[in-house]
Amino acid sequence: GATIGILGGGQLGRMLSVAAARLGFKTCIFEPGADCPASHVADTHIQAGYEDEGALRTFAAAVDVITFEFENIPTSALDVLETLNPVRPNRKALRVSQDRLVEKAFLNDLGLKTAPFAAVDDGVDVTQAMSEIGLPAILKTRRFGYDGKGQARITDPNEAEAALAAMNGAPSLYEGFVDFDYEVSVIAARGLGGDVACYDPGENVHEGGILRTTTIPARLNASQRTDAVLLAAQILNKLDYVGVMGVELFVTGDGLVVNEIAPRVHNSGHWTQNGCTVDQFEQHIRAVAGWPLGGGTRYANVVMENLIGDDMARVPDLAKDGTAALHLYGKAEVKPGRKMGHVNMITGPA
Ligand code: ATP
Ligand code: MG
Ligand code: MG
Repeated sequence: GATIGILGGGQLGRMLSVAAARLGFKTCIFEPGADCPASHVADTHIQAGYEDEGALRTFAAAVDVITFEFENIPTSALDVLETLNPVRPNRKALRVSQDRLVEKAFLNDLGLKTAPFAAVDDGVDVTQAMSEIGLPAILKTRRFGYDGKGQARITDPNEAEAALAAMNGAPSLYEGFVDFDYEVSVIAARGLGGDVACYDPGENVHEGGILRTTTIPARLNASQRTDAVLLAAQILNKLDYVGVMGVELFVTGDGLVVNEIAPRVHNSGHWTQNGCTVDQFEQHIRAVAGWPLGGGTRYANVVMENLIGDDMARVPDLAKDGTAALHLYGKAEVKPGRKMGHVNMITGPA
């Protein structure tokens, strides 16, 4: 059978490996860390850094197609890998999603709404952005941010200096605060032949910048649901995308505003593991392997809750609850803010 190469060994890589195994594929993980969640379930683990060209070549030679579980793959690593094997999703999707400024410009070019934004490199830029865009606002590093890291809120002009200092000199983006009613995401997939399948949008609640719960169905009406799915399809088509993508949206009285896109399986799509026949992980493997996509039909209403840090203490009780579908990542060390697992609760038929 074929072998799928996965860059990154976190929980997303782990669940991709499990899905690949179910379809009879082997998996090879490329990850600098030793004891990573994916290494316990993948067939092989190449433990090396992204600057190690020899290791990248060994990895590429061992697999038939390459995908990834996080978007911050260095360009230099892609230069090596792309000449040896197909990388799916493609580089354009990575280039766009690695930089919040490029991403927002791309979305606006498609005619999609985003928060108002301006690039910020120094105090002069912040002052100018503040006068153009106004307050409240969020300053975000353009690259490498996740789970709300690398962000600082500005509600009062005298907080601007501290927010800028929190960026540690990294190129940043000033974003006007979107006064949203709630947040949803579309988990969308595009196959090698250009076919698109979307899951029903879920409603997301964040706490301290980290996803807490995803509830399916979201409160969207039929036309909002159609808008959400169509704009996701538009994004995937424009990028000639292959694989699963998470599209995070703000729902406002003025329509849908795109927050950000993630060129990979997404935390807010974990509910599909217990709500759909083909979950987002299998869907991604199907796409990158050139298989037909699953339909995405939903059979249940689901609440997905992340188990973060000390939430792990609830696992014995959750295990006693025969209706809770537990998914644990096998991380040895519990840390505050660390995603340790999640639980899917079926709340009714779809
Ligand atoms: P992820 O882990 O999803 O990649 P991230 O670190 O990239 O997160 P964002 O998605 O940009 O962060 O922001 C995290 C959360 O902060 C959002 O889901 C939303 O709740 C809030 N937020 C971010 N930007 C804005 C904005 N412009 N207006 C209002 N709320 C915002
Ligand atoms: Mg993000
Ligand atoms: Mg986000």
